[in-house]
Amino acid sequence: MMNTIIGLEQHVQLKTNAKLFCECPTEGYLEAEPNTLVCPVCVSHPGSKPYGVNEEAVRNAVKISLALGCKVVTEKPILVQRKHYFYPDLPSNYQRTSKPIAKDGMLSGVRIREVHLEEDPGRYDLRTGKVDYNRSGIPLVEIITEPDIKSPEHARKFLDELQAIMNYLNVAREEAGSTRIDANVSIGGHNRVEVKNINSFKGVLTALTYEAMRQKNLIKNNIEIIQETRHFDEGQGTTIGLRLKETAADYRYFPDPDVPPITISEKKVKEIKKEIPELPAEKAKRFVRDYTVSETDAFVITQEKEFADGFEKIAHKIQPRLAARFMRGVLKKQLNYRGLKLSNSGLNEKKIIELLELVEKKRITPKVAEKLLVLMLDEQKPLKKLPLYEELVGIEKEGIVEEAVEKVLKEYEKAVKDFKKGEEKALHFLIGKVMHLTKGKAHPEIIHKHLKKRLKAG
Ligand SMILES: [Zn+2]
Repeated sequence: MMNTIIGLEQHVQLKTNAKLFCECPTEGYLEAEPNTLVCPVCVSHPGSKPYGVNEEAVRNAVKISLALGCKVVTEKPILVQRKHYFYPDLPSNYQRTSKPIAKDGMLSGVRIREVHLEEDPGRYDLRTGKVDYNRSGIPLVEIITEPDIKSPEHARKFLDELQAIMNYLNVAREEAGSTRIDANVSIGGHNRVEVKNINSFKGVLTALTYEAMRQKNLIKNNIEIIQETRHFDEGQGTTIGLRLKETAADYRYFPDPDVPPITISEKKVKEIKKEIPELPAEKAKRFVRDYTVSETDAFVITQEKEFADGFEKIAHKIQPRLAARFMRGVLKKQLNYRGLKLSNSGLNEKKIIELLELVEKKRITPKVAEKLLVLMLDEQKPLKKLPLYEELVGIEKEGIVEEAVEKVLKEYEKAVKDFKKGEEKALHFLIGKVMHLTKGKAHPEIIHKHLKKRLKAG
C-alpha cells in the first residue's frame, strides 16, 4: 500500500490592534524599525507580568472555529500553557499556547481536530544573526487537522478553502508570512515525517509532492523511513532533515502561572455566531442555483467576498453566465497580473457592466473586451475616453465591416457561388476572411448579419 497520508497544522496571524498578552500595537510590524513595537512583556524582561488574554484575539479565534464547524469549549476554563524550546526568536524560551479552544470541525472533507490560540515568536535572521521582536506576541490561531488529506493537491484545495473563509471573516492578517504551515506526511503505515517552514500556499504543493515522492522511493528500495522533522527549502523545492522528531514531552508543557485561563461563555459563542456572513461554499452553491453559472466559475468567483459581491451586482444587469465567465477568466487574470484586487484596481461594478453590455449586445467580441479591460486598468480612464475605444467599438458604426464584406465578396466569387448553391461551409469561410480583414475586431455575428444581408440582396 502506497497511500499518501497528510495532516496539516496551519498558523494564521490574527488581525487585532494589540498583541496577545500586552498592549503593544501590531499594525505595520513588518515595516516598523526593528524592536520598536515592544515592551517588557513581549521581550520577557525579568519581573514583567503578562496582561490578561486579548479578548479581540479570542473572539477572532472563536469566529474562525465556528466557521470551520468546530464545537467551542465553553464548559470549562481553557488553560494557557508554556511550550519550552530554545531559539533566538523566543526571549522567554517558551511560547504561550492555549489548550484547544475548539474541536471537531470539518472542511473540504478533512476533519479539524483542534484550534489553539498562541503567541508568535520574534523574527530571527539566520544570515545576520539579528532578531526583531516586533512580531513577538502577535496572536496566532493554530488549526490542526486529522490526517485525512490524501494528496498534495487535496492539501492545496483544503488550504484554498480555508483561505477563502479567512477572507470572508476578515479576522486574519494578510501580510507576507502571516500564514505558516507544518505538515505531517506518511505513506501507508510507515513512519511519519513532519515538514516545517512552509510559508506560502504555492510552497505546500511543492513541499508535499517532494516529500511524498522521497518517502515512496525509500520504501521501494526497502529503506526505512526515519521519524524526523524536515525543513522545507523553498528555493530548492526540497526538504532537508533537521532533527529526530520531538514528542510533546520534549516541550515540557505546563500551565503558565502568570496567565489566568480563558473562559468563553455560551452566550458569547451565540453572539459571535451571528456575525458570521454567508461563507464561500454556501455562496457558491447559491450562485449555481440562482444564476445557473458553472460550479467551477462559482467556486473561483466566491474565493474573495468582495469579488463575489461584485459579481452579484453585475449579474443583475448582465447575463450571469457571461458575467461569470468574464470575471472568473479575463478579469481575475488581469487583476492577478497586476497584484490588484477589485477594490484597488480603479474598476467598479458600473464600469464592468458598461464593458460587458458591449459584449452582450454583440458590439465587441470577448477578445476585444479583454483588450479594453487591459486599457482601463493601465490607463485608468473611463471606457469611452480610452484611446482605442472608437477604433475597437466604433467599428460597426463607421461601416468598416460593410467595407470588408464588399471586399471579400469580390475577391472570393467561388465561395459566394458555393453558398448560393446551398453550401453553409462557404459562409463560414467568408466570415473567416472578413474577420481576418478586420483584424478580429468585428464580432462574427455582426459579420454574419451583414454577409447574409448582402448575399440575399445580390
Ligand atoms: Zn509588548
